[in-house]
Amino acid sequence: MPTPPVVRRPRGGGGTSALMPPTSHLQSNDAATTPPRTPEPKRTPEPKQKLLLKRVGSPGSLRALLRADAAARRRALGPDNAVEAPAGCEEDLWIDIHVVEAFNDLHALWEQVGLDEKCRAKLGENPPTAGERTYAWDADSDSDDCEDTDLAAADYVARTFESFTRASRDRAVFPEPDEGAFPAGFRPGARKACGRLLRCWMHLYHNHFSAVAEAGRADGANACFKRFLTIALRYELVDRAELAPIEDLAQSLLAPRRTVDARALAGEEG
Ligand SMILES: [Zn+2]
Repeated sequence: MPTPPVVRRPRGGGGTSALMPPTSHLQSNDAATTPPRTPEPKRTPEPKQKLLLKRVGSPGSLRALLRADAAARRRALGPDNAVEAPAGCEEDLWIDIHVVEAFNDLHALWEQVGLDEKCRAKLGENPPTAGERTYAWDADSDSDDCEDTDLAAADYVARTFESFTRASRDRAVFPEPDEGAFPAGFRPGARKACGRLLRCWMHLYHNHFSAVAEAGRADGANACFKRFLTIALRYELVDRAELAPIEDLAQSLLAPRRTVDARALAGEEG
């Protein structure tokens, strides 16, 4: 495993205050005493979004059936219940399906909120940051990846999408959607891709979450990120230590669902 491309990390902590916590499961039953911290504007219909990657499998294929199964379990039981692969399902195939979905989710959000433009306007040529961490591109040594590692934040995200799209066509990493054994390069490739995806998400939460909320996508973003994190941690596709810039958010998202006691919340304030 390559070391995470953390350029600098001053000691001292406390870098997560700018984060917007997820609100959905904090508003369970008493909206009057626990107002949402990220009020959602009037929701516009979700625009149709073309998939970044169409690894959906042909109709009736195992991949197509598993995708449908995972989606049905999420709808019926919530995201926590779509993590474990069904009995007999090859774990690599399950991971493949979810990693592709995670990329499509972030790509759709990035496009729908117009974050490429907003990121360039806000950060210019500055590299991506999350809290006190700054990220340089970790170029693949054995591919045609650009050697320039000093990327503007928006370029980092764009290259994350490009590199994953390229990897998905590389049969040393991803097999054909409908068939083929998973090559030895699959897990390392998936881990690399998920590490980059995680940094994009953390950058988004630290720098662009207000734009996401203004676009009415805060809950959707939290749901997508939770889904990604749950799978990525379950199958060791990201290092837990990498989550430091969003540790509070991660704990909140990953906490078992529970009914929030409004009095306990009020007590926290005082
Ligand atoms: Zn940005």
